[in-house]
Formats: sequence, structure tokens, C-alpha cells
Amino acid sequence: MHTTLPSDKKLWPEARLISARWWYAPLAFLLSMIARDAATPKEAVPILIAAFFIVLFGNVWFSFFLRKAASPDAFLKWRTLFNGSQIALDLAFFSLVLVFSGGIYGISHVFFLVPVIAAIALFGFRGGIIVAALSGLLVLFSTLLTNGFFAFSFLGVATAQTNHTLLFALGESSVLAALYVLAGFFGGSVLRLFERRDLLLQGEIAKGQEQVKRLEKLTDEFDQSAKLLVRRDIELTSANEKLTQLDRMKSEIISIVAHQLRTPLSAIKWTLKMLLDEDTGKVTDEQKGLLAKGFESNERMVTLINDMLAVDHLESGKLKYNFIPVQFESLVEEMVNNLLPIATHKRIVVEFSAPQDPLPKVKVDPDKMRDVLQNLIDNAIKYSKEGSTVTVGAEMGEEAIHFWVKDGGIGIPDDAKGKIFSRFFRAANAVSTETDGSGLGLFIAQSVVKRHGGKIWFESVVNEGATFHVTLPLTP
Ligand code: ADP
Repeated sequence: MHTTLPSDKKLWPEARLISARWWYAPLAFLLSMIARDAATPKEAVPILIAAFFIVLFGNVWFSFFLRKAASPDAFLKWRTLFNGSQIALDLAFFSLVLVFSGGIYGISHVFFLVPVIAAIALFGFRGGIIVAALSGLLVLFSTLLTNGFFAFSFLGVATAQTNHTLLFALGESSVLAALYVLAGFFGGSVLRLFERRDLLLQGEIAKGQEQVKRLEKLTDEFDQSAKLLVRRDIELTSANEKLTQLDRMKSEIISIVAHQLRTPLSAIKWTLKMLLDEDTGKVTDEQKGLLAKGFESNERMVTLINDMLAVDHLESGKLKYNFIPVQFESLVEEMVNNLLPIATHKRIVVEFSAPQDPLPKVKVDPDKMRDVLQNLIDNAIKYSKEGSTVTVGAEMGEEAIHFWVKDGGIGIPDDAKGKIFSRFFRAANAVSTETDGSGLGLFIAQSVVKRHGGKIWFESVVNEGATFHVTLPLTP
């Protein structure tokens, strides 16, 4: 039986039964009037009329009671009694109709299906079976009554029958009783199926609702995260703008300082050169030595400033490239010759192994490529031991020109190998061997080579030497 009722009373099963009774009660009454036969006693008519009015009155009362019920919950405690009364009234009425309208040989016994179905709707499976069994008993009882089984004559309806006829009628009644029980059983089972399906559906709905809640929670969290991300994005954008501004300021400062330093440094350079060349008068050898040291230091300052400017240009994207076809080996030869005086000064032999056949022309920016070659050869000389040999070579590889510089110098320690091309990095053994150096040369070289579409790498064993390689495609 339903333990909860919808708030709309019209949807209650008891309300539907009351409405249905307005139709089936008059129908049953009419049938009983029509189906009366000669055997039906005269007294049957007032009894049936009275019963019909009792049913009508009962239905008015049921309907009134239901309308007055304060709430579904308040009604629940009366429900069993209320619905039991409805079923009992119907059973009593249909029994009378059955008795007075030809018994089981008429058609009024079908009315007993009404309370059976109503009981299923109101009380569920068990209620349906009980009312079905009760209907069967009532039909049996009516049959016994109408067949004069009881010793007393009930309002004259019982006519004495032969045993055979009685048995036959009882057989028919039993079939009807079994039919009611079957109907009760079948109806109840269908109801149970529906109830089970309802339960399953409710379970699914509950699960669905839970998932919806979980999704809502997730959506909320996503919302929060999205808001956070937007906020972070705004913060990052503004931080980025600040950094770009700072970077621009740094660039400007480097550029201004470098240009401001260049003029006095170049004045110093020419003054020292004039003194060294004895344009202003004789200088002693000792003085010359001192002046040469000053000149060298000045040159290093110029190189450092140029390197810093180059790095700044690289990073700010201001560096413009001008690619033209060049004879690469000539470029290498030029740089070797330029650096020979420094090498000779250190008693280092620089060998250039020129290619047997001229190399195909390669498109490079000659000025920037000169810087790269100069840096690599200069490093090889700088980090070589006195009296050793530096070998420089260029050849045509499979698809690119291959240039290399090999020295037998201090080499690169394993822990420094990964950082050699980083800005301002100098390995510890390089710092202790050669105090001068900015750690910018290889950084610039790598960036220039990359811009040419080439590669730069090295192999080295510490204290045995290093070989630097560059490959350049014929067109960048
Ligand atoms: P710098 O030579 O001015 O220090 P570079 O950028 O040219 O700067 O070189 C970075 C570092 O790489 C050097 O300080 C040195 O530690 C290492 N290095 C470069 N070339 C050689 C070489 N031929 N032999 C040994 N170490 C080298």
C-alpha cells in the first residue's frame, strides 16, 4: 500500500474509486433490476433499492470525509479503515445484486472484479488476494443461499434444488472464485512489478541528482579556477609589461654607457699608439712595455664593450643580418692571419688546413661570421699551453660547410660542459689560466650560428684540449 500520497487529493486512488462508484453502482443496480427473473421474489426490489441508496449515501459520505481530510498525513491513520469500509460496502452490494439477479448464471458476478482491482490499488498485492478470496467466498455463499442449501428460507430466494444442480452450481462458483483469486494474483503481481520499477527509477533519479550536484560542485570549482587564472593572467601581463619596460631601460642604459665609454677608450687607444710609435718622441724599452700593457688592456675594454653591445642587440632583436655569398675559406684565412701575432706572441703555431678544392659559396653575414671565427680561434689560442699547435680547418660536408678549431689546451671540465654557451659563463680552469674574458663570446657565436641555420658544438677532455665545430648550410 502507498505510504505517501500526492498533495492533489484527486490523484488519490480512494478518490478515483469514489468517482468510479458513481458509475458502477447505478450500473449494477440497473442490471439487477433488468436481470430479475420469475424466481426472484417481490421483496427483492425494495431491498435492492434500499441497498442502492445505502451505497449512494455511503459514497456521499466517503467523498465528504475525503474532502474534509486535513492533509495526506492526517488521512493516513484512517486510511485502512476508510478503504476497508469502501471495499466492504461494494462487496455487500454486489453480493445482493448477485443473489437477486440470477446468481452465477447471470453476469453480475463480473462486478466482483471491481473490489478486487480496487483492493490491489488501495492495499497492494496481499490486499488484492484477500479481497479476491473474500469475493470467491461470497459467490460460493450466494450460490449456496440461492440453491436452498441453508435450512431456512432467506426471503424466499432459495429454491429447493436437487443435489446434482447444487453441486453443479458450486462447481461454477468455485471456478469464479478461482478466477477472482487469479485476477487478484495477476493484478497484484503487475502492481509489484510497477512498484519495483518505480523504486529502480527512483534510485536512478537519486543517482542522477547526486551526479548533477557533483557536476554543479565541479562547475563551481572550475569557475573559481577560471577566475583565479584570469586574475593570474592579468597579474602576469602587467608583470610582463613591467619587465619589458625594465628591459628597454636596461638596453638604453647599456647602449648609452657603451657609446659614452667608446669615445674616451678610442682616444686612449690613439694616444697610446702615438706614444708607442714614438710620434711624440723617443720612449725607453721599459716605458714601451708599460705602454703596450696599457694598450692591450684598453683593447680588451673595447672588446668587452663591443660584446656587451652585441649581446644587447641580439636580445633586443635590433641586430640586422646582411647575408651575402662568400668564399668561406677566405674568411677563415683572414681571421687566422689576423690572430697570428697573438699566437706568435704566445709561441703557438696555428695551422690552417685549407680544403683541396674551393668550397661552394655560402650565404653568410661576413661581419658577424668574422666575430664567430675570431672568437673560436682566439679561445683556442687563449686556452692553449705555450708551444702547442692549434689546427683550423674547413671542408664541405654532406649538405653544409664544416669548420673546426682544435687545440691541445686546458680543455673543458665535465661539470662546465653544459654551461659553456651561457651568458657570462667561464669555467674555473679558464678563469685561473686567463684572467681576461667576459664569457660572452660563445653565447654570441651560438646565436649567430643559429641565425645562419647552422649548428655549433664541441668535444673536449680536460687538460688534453678542445675541438669546436660549426656547420653552416649554404643558404641560411
Ligand atoms: P671567454 O673566452 O671570454 O671567457 P667565451 O664565451 O668565449 O668567453 O668562452 C666561455 C668559456 O668557455 C671560457 O671561459 C672557457 O671556460 C670555455 N672555453 C671556450 N673555448 C675554450 C677552449 N678552446 N678551451 C677551453 N675552454 C674553452
